[in-house]
Amino acid sequence: MGYQFQSINFTGAAPGKRLIVLGGVHGNEACGTEAIQRVIAELQQGQLTIRQGSVTFVPVCNPKARQLQQRCGDRNLNRKLFPTATPVEFEDHVANWLCPLLAQHEVLLDLHSFHTAGAPFAMLGPKNNQGQLEPFTHDAEEESLARHLGVSLFVDGWLDTYAAGVRRRQSAIGTTAQHDVAFGVGTTEYMRSQGGYGLTLECGQHDDAAAPEVAYRAILNTLAWLGLIDDYAPAAVSERQTLRLFSVVDRLSAGDQLAQEWQSFQQLAPGTLIGTRADGSELRTEELAYIVFPNPGAEPGSEWFYLARPVERV
Ligand SMILES: [Zn+2]
Repeated sequence: MGYQFQSINFTGAAPGKRLIVLGGVHGNEACGTEAIQRVIAELQQGQLTIRQGSVTFVPVCNPKARQLQQRCGDRNLNRKLFPTATPVEFEDHVANWLCPLLAQHEVLLDLHSFHTAGAPFAMLGPKNNQGQLEPFTHDAEEESLARHLGVSLFVDGWLDTYAAGVRRRQSAIGTTAQHDVAFGVGTTEYMRSQGGYGLTLECGQHDDAAAPEVAYRAILNTLAWLGLIDDYAPAAVSERQTLRLFSVVDRLSAGDQLAQEWQSFQQLAPGTLIGTRADGSELRTEELAYIVFPNPGAEPGSEWFYLARPVERV
């Protein structure tokens, strides 16, 4: 099919943690790839040395999307991410290569950028739980790593909120493969399903010149925090804010319009008009909330925006 997959591994002489760092899960997000290449060069030139454990870098997870300079090749690689015996779309082939690779590691750092202006943030997994949706036992390590990445804003509640949105869609428009709860599984959710843990770091807007530096600092901090390099000890970020997603609202028709060009993490007072449906009905906040991932051009039937509220966490 003209595309090949590449991973680069550095292993220390002493045993230790197994880390994997991903870039280019979405083809139009270059900051992770840039930062990974910078760290690889420093390792190759001897400015950095892996003392214990090992790190695997995947500079470009989705080479088709990267060639197209688009978020997706055939579909979003960061949804419905698991191996399949009958690959159809290009991302199924990526998953068949990437999932077993993820499963060989204990910790994941997945580097992304985003569409609208806003501060960098990390996506956190659930608290420890024995539930059906995303059972987890590593919340303490995951939260501690998050505190040391170098960013001060955190978002959690992704899979819960996504699953609730999926259930609402199923009852509204009938079930299709796209509306399966498992559709919310991306790289970090897959990692947790295999007994590991991991963070998605959204490093800034796609073309923000600072985003590659945010990604680079996060890789070094992760290597140091896990003890793979011994050059320095990263400090925990002191001022932290965590927002918990509690609602996802779908765009139902192309006539649905947002009331203004919202920025991600913009605070909305109770009663704020967020958008208007094609039939004229208004969507307003019921409580003080933050709008997250607003997508004015969302395909009808897919996520239009999320709402989050502040919580005490990391
Ligand atoms: Zn992304």
